[in-house]
Amino acid sequence: MSVRLSGKVDGFPDSVIRNMTMRNLRLHGPARAVNFAQGFPDFEPPPEIVVAAQAALDRGGDYHQYAITWGAPTLREAIAAYQSRVWDRPVDAENEISVVCGATEGMLAALFTTVEPGDEVIVFEPFYECYVPDTVLVGARPRFVPLRSPDWRFDPDELRSAFTARTKAIIVNTPHNPTGKVFSRAELQLIAKLCQERGVTPITDEIYEHLVYEGEHVSLATLPGMAERTITISGASKTYSVTGWRIGWLIAPPQLTAGIRKVHDYLTVGTAHPLQIAVAAGLRLPDAFYERYLSEYRERRDLLVAGLNARGFTVSSPAGAYYVMAGFSRLSQLDDEAFAEQLIETAGVATVPGSSFYAHPELGRKHVRFSFPKRLETIERGLEALAGIA
Ligand code: GLN
Repeated sequence: MSVRLSGKVDGFPDSVIRNMTMRNLRLHGPARAVNFAQGFPDFEPPPEIVVAAQAALDRGGDYHQYAITWGAPTLREAIAAYQSRVWDRPVDAENEISVVCGATEGMLAALFTTVEPGDEVIVFEPFYECYVPDTVLVGARPRFVPLRSPDWRFDPDELRSAFTARTKAIIVNTPHNPTGKVFSRAELQLIAKLCQERGVTPITDEIYEHLVYEGEHVSLATLPGMAERTITISGASKTYSVTGWRIGWLIAPPQLTAGIRKVHDYLTVGTAHPLQIAVAAGLRLPDAFYERYLSEYRERRDLLVAGLNARGFTVSSPAGAYYVMAGFSRLSQLDDEAFAEQLIETAGVATVPGSSFYAHPELGRKHVRFSFPKRLETIERGLEALAGIA
């Protein structure tokens, strides 16, 4: 029997990020394959949150059952306390925070809450791979604004003209996957101004908020007039090295939050209760934790960037997040997909072809993305394996 997939789903590519990771593993096995493709840590999370997760499981009782759909009070209160401190204004755990299954569900819930079929959503290109399928799932159309290498700035006029009568939302990801760009205050001020003038909802994915090596992390929600219209998404995956726990959250004004909670209820009901309790312990970690976290990532970044440049790639140091878009024109005439394939076959090194972050694939043909949430030994092993390709 042949089944017909819906037109929406039929048009989706498989996740290239996961495919590259799995192909490399299949060819070389876990002992040899070096995974610079899928951005997840190969080291342990902070022990405090693992202990807290174990304690929550041991305590049992209601922790084995649904938490309140939009998040266990313990976690929402911890998020509120943390965010109020960072934003220097009260964030209300009762009416402004929703806990979801990772930032990925958060993005979909935010779009379902704000966007109608036929609307347009502005997306900066290159983009993290789920933003476009998410936009299509809600029946809207993405409208792209290019970020241009090497410094990944956008043209203010191109942004202005991307706002049309149909624009409902704009997705801003800072620090940015895949480029490492950290949106400047001036860039965010322009986005804020356009959103206010045109009545557009900004949805900001700030999952890499603690990974800013250069400059400052500015939340759009902290700019004047923006708290009452912005949906801010973050989560535990990157900050506490627990990408498999699937704990994310949204912070939005009460009216938007009420919508988000309904969508979330119908999408997933809720996320793992004991792990919510554990993430609350993470949010109570002292500043020293974040300082160490950042300095360890800086070391990984510097090792990878210097190593790639020494091997003939063209890479500038990312200001944030844990990815680099590496130019390989000096190394090969191949396109990005063939080159990434060659890296897997000859070096056992998985990367992501640049074009998979673009709606206009030709723009990514001479880049591959490396992610670096990896132990220094892993990065060194990967660089050694790449030594032969020049
Ligand atoms: N955010 C991670 C990345 O960009 C993981 C993505 C995924 O698993 N599809 O690599």
